[in-house]
Amino acid sequence: MPHASNFLLGRLVPATLARLGPHLSVVELAAGEVLAEPHQHIRRVYFPHSGIISSIVELSDGSTIETGMVGHDGVFGASQALDDKVSLNLVTVQIPGKASAIGPDRLRVLANELPDFKALLIKYEQFFLSQVQQTAACNAVHDIEARTCKWLARMHDLAGPDLLLTQEFFARMMGVRRTSVTTVAGALQGAGLISYSRGRLHIHDIEQIRKRACECDDAVRANFQRMFADVEADTRIQRCV
Ligand SMILES: [Zn+2]
Repeated sequence: MPHASNFLLGRLVPATLARLGPHLSVVELAAGEVLAEPHQHIRRVYFPHSGIISSIVELSDGSTIETGMVGHDGVFGASQALDDKVSLNLVTVQIPGKASAIGPDRLRVLANELPDFKALLIKYEQFFLSQVQQTAACNAVHDIEARTCKWLARMHDLAGPDLLLTQEFFARMMGVRRTSVTTVAGALQGAGLISYSRGRLHIHDIEQIRKRACECDDAVRANFQRMFADVEADTRIQRCV
């Protein structure tokens, strides 16, 4: 079933996924597509199979910074749908891909009928909040090269070594001036770790990128593994009931 390409949907017991299946549709995530506007109700909840969704804070001076990333290991919009809340941030597609999508009202009804599904959504939102908190600390303390390498490592995990992105976009995500991105990208390219040309970035040496990254990516990944390590156990328990 294509929906199981998403980590969270793939971890559901077959009976639960079968209940959800008729209500999910597979949609394209187009590069730059706006999935939610600040202080607006969301139109859909997305469980990506591929690509990357970014949550972005916009400041009054026009500057922006990314506060969270969602890929095939997560969901965007579930907490807003469960509580009928608005999106606090601008949410856009950073790297195109595919996702299973569902309307927020339908998701809320199904989550109330399927406690194991609701528990998984709430657990993911707890993880996402921890990612946002780690990002806040990272943006305040760590230098641009270490943050850039952390960001590239996370992108590599979610989308592979070939990334379509402009330096302008890169700078907007990192919350820095474009000249700073150019300097860091030039240093990484000079060291043979990446190549960058006309909006295409290729990561040649992910191990070295990880070594230059701050500890924040490792911290986020370790947190994810800790939080979801019991998912398999939960699944086995439910299958036995
Ligand atoms: Zn950091």
